[in-house]
Amino acid sequence: MQRSIFKGLRFRLALSYAVFFAILLTGFGFVLRGMLRGVIETTVQGLLDEEWAATKGFLRINAVGKLEWTYDPSDPEEAAIVERLKLIYMIADEKGEVLESSEMYREMGFQSPALITTILSEDKPRYTFHPNLRGQVFMVREGTLSERNHKYFVALGRNFTPSLYVIDQFSVDYFIALPFIILTAAGLGWLLARRAMQPVTEVAAQVAKVSGSNLSLRVPLRGSRDELDHMIANFNGMVERLDQSFQQIRQFSTDVSHELRTPITVVRGQLEVALMTATTEEELRVAIEAALVDIDRLSQIVRALLNLAKAESGQLTLQMQDLDLVPLIREVLNELEIPALDRQVRLSNQLPQRAVISADRIQIERLLYNLIDNGIKYTRQAGFVEVNVSFDESSSKISLEIRDNGEGIAPEHLPHLFDRFYRVPARENGAEKGLGLGLSFVSWIVKAHGGDIQVSSKLGEGTAFRVTFPAKIGDIRNQTENGNQRETAGRYTNS
Ligand code: ADP
Repeated sequence: MQRSIFKGLRFRLALSYAVFFAILLTGFGFVLRGMLRGVIETTVQGLLDEEWAATKGFLRINAVGKLEWTYDPSDPEEAAIVERLKLIYMIADEKGEVLESSEMYREMGFQSPALITTILSEDKPRYTFHPNLRGQVFMVREGTLSERNHKYFVALGRNFTPSLYVIDQFSVDYFIALPFIILTAAGLGWLLARRAMQPVTEVAAQVAKVSGSNLSLRVPLRGSRDELDHMIANFNGMVERLDQSFQQIRQFSTDVSHELRTPITVVRGQLEVALMTATTEEELRVAIEAALVDIDRLSQIVRALLNLAKAESGQLTLQMQDLDLVPLIREVLNELEIPALDRQVRLSNQLPQRAVISADRIQIERLLYNLIDNGIKYTRQAGFVEVNVSFDESSSKISLEIRDNGEGIAPEHLPHLFDRFYRVPARENGAEKGLGLGLSFVSWIVKAHGGDIQVSSKLGEGTAFRVTFPAKIGDIRNQTENGNQRETAGRYTNS
């Protein structure tokens, strides 16, 4: 398979890594810029507060509203401070009328008298930004100075443009560097992804070998007990199951062709011989009857195959109805009377009067037929097959037991008994060979009816199959209430 690098997991991992970094670093850049501006603003505010304190020390306003800067002109330090204070300032009276202002302040324009009166009524100073006509931006501290029961509006400014320049320069540098950082991150991501994907690539190569050549191969575990090892173990389990199914299917094809070929050859032989040698009608009749027996066996095999295929592909829909097991068991026992007599196997039963379950009649008949027929087939001469039905009130289950004293099954075969096509290797007693489909079909029928099947067996002593179905309690109780005989709890012998 041609793999596109852009669709590969490695590319996508590296890309996600890069996108994640890009988003993270862009966000981080904006946060950093905000923090830088915050720090600078606080610093400038602190400087303005210092200037404000100095202004309060040097500025006097007399009763008629005349301003006077009181300092010692002979002290060069004081003179310099006052010069600095008078650089960007404006003072107005309570009505908002400007009393004095510096030239640089005038370039920014004055606050409206209404705004000045509002600020004068506030407790705290305001820090605002004002641009001037030359595009410079100033931070201005607007506050109140109280002198002789009069309030004066005093605004002091500081040029904020250099600070803005620092902030902008930082942003430009950061966002120019960003693509390079992201590219480096993407490159690192690419390398990391390769490291991370390396084991996956190796395992994929191993897996390709398994599917390509041989189902008996297994991908070796890496021993790291990580998710990948877990996946490999599951994959090996899957191949194991596939391998088993393939083997079963292969075995089955061999068995089916063998099973079908033998009766066909026999029928053909019988008919050819009859055609060439039979002289009387009686001889022809005998040959045709023998051929019909084999053809019956053939159609039995084909029917079993079709049924199983239908059931397993979900095409078999059950016709559920309230079904009394008792008369049905009697019918099946009657049908099997002759084969049982042939093998000198005694059939007996212990049945209640009624045992009603919700079930598909045809399938339950098939189940009974298979289990009882197996009991007869795999039982020595002069043995017995017993069919018991009982009702367990506490779990409201009806249980059906088919027990024989036949050849039994060795313990190692028991777990596989219900597998498709599983047959216990033939023993010397010459029991008829089947296809190994009967019990797997029985187990499908039990499951489809919400029941459960169990087998217990002792080699040489006999086998018991126990099937439980949910009982139709309503029906049973109704019968009791209607005055019929009690039929649920006790067992009724009826052989
Ligand atoms: P088959 O068509 O071979 O009878 P089943 O699926 O009905 O196929 O049974 C599977 C195998 O289980 C049989 O080959 C047989 O060896 C064993 N088996 C089934 N029922 C009995 C039984 N009552 N006693 C002994 N062996 C049994």
